[in-house]
Amino acid sequence: MNPLRPIILAASASPRMQRIVTGTPVTAAIVRRFVAGAGRAELIPVVRELLASRRLISVDFLGENTTDRAQADATVAEYLSLINDLAAMNDFRDATARTEVSVKLSALGQALPVDGPAIATENLRILCTKAAQAGVWVTVDAEDHTTTEATLTTVREVCAEFPWLGAVLQAYLHRAEEDCRELSGSRIRLCKGAYREPHTVAYQRSAEVTDSYLRCLEILMGGAGYPMVATHDPVLILAAEQLAAETGRGPDRFEYQMLYGIRDPEQLRLAAAGNAMRVYVPYGSQWYGYLTRRLAERPANLTFLLRALVSKS
Ligand SMILES: Cc1cc2nc3c(=O)[nH]c(=O)nc-3n(C[C@H](O)[C@H](O)[C@H](O)COP(=O)(O)OP(=O)(O)OC[C@H]3O[C@@H](n4cnc5c(N)ncnc54)[C@H](O)[C@@H]3O)c2cc1C
Repeated sequence: MNPLRPIILAASASPRMQRIVTGTPVTAAIVRRFVAGAGRAELIPVVRELLASRRLISVDFLGENTTDRAQADATVAEYLSLINDLAAMNDFRDATARTEVSVKLSALGQALPVDGPAIATENLRILCTKAAQAGVWVTVDAEDHTTTEATLTTVREVCAEFPWLGAVLQAYLHRAEEDCRELSGSRIRLCKGAYREPHTVAYQRSAEVTDSYLRCLEILMGGAGYPMVATHDPVLILAAEQLAAETGRGPDRFEYQMLYGIRDPEQLRLAAAGNAMRVYVPYGSQWYGYLTRRLAERPANLTFLLRALVSKS
């Protein structure tokens, strides 16, 4: 694993670092690469362009670790409007080509000091009710490991009413294979995992994470659910293609997923080859946590930012 990763992820938790990075105008160019805009007015043209290129989309309204009830309520209100906008862009000729929203339970109130998980569960139910009426899908993002159990408990509860609700499993967690077995009948996005986790709960070496991803992928591809293969890693994309062929899964029974701004030509290649290729598109002003995770994944992204910060000081 990249040696800078833990340092960048640790820095991402520092309010001082956040002030420096967000207060630097040069950061804007980097943010623009990974984030579709500050509001829906900037987001919608980006979504239209992606859909026009035969890609599918999952939109994330940025924000996490909300400790204020009013902010959680405002996030719910924004998602309800977003679902309305996305419904208007749905292609109802193809059931798997639905638009989707991705949501973090910590943005819906999971971290609130009193009744956080119950509030987040209720808020997720509100979003799913609206999404079901609109024909839009919802997937619940995975956050750091201290939230995994509470998040999956909420997902299991809400899935009973909305069986199409998607969840994310992180291959770097030791528990991932077991969770894949339990949830292999559902809509599951499999990713490597983006947070800084201790060795007691997560694989640390990238080869171990890749091996775990492959074991998890095999379980999901062999299951009755809808695997969502979220990775930019060519080895894993090839493995998914091979497993799909072996298990007889057509493009309507699994999809590839990548992040907005990363490996665009590969996204277009997969879509042009007839695969379902969904792009995760974040928007909003709370981009700091999201951006630092992207920087931690790839030191090359960081070099430009560090140079700019050093030249400013
Ligand atoms: C659709 C989607 C949803 C996700 N949702 C979650 C989630 O809910 N929870 C969670 O913990 N994680 C999530 N992730 C992030 C994921 O866990 C990984 O951190 C991230 O995808 C990088 O891992 P990788 O599989 O692409 O492999 P890597 O080995 O990191 O990357 C493989 C190659 O992809 C390219 N690449 C990867 N990252 C970058 C980057 N930041 N900038 C430029 N190039 C890059 C490079 O060419 C790199 O060599 C999500 C990822 C995707 C694609």
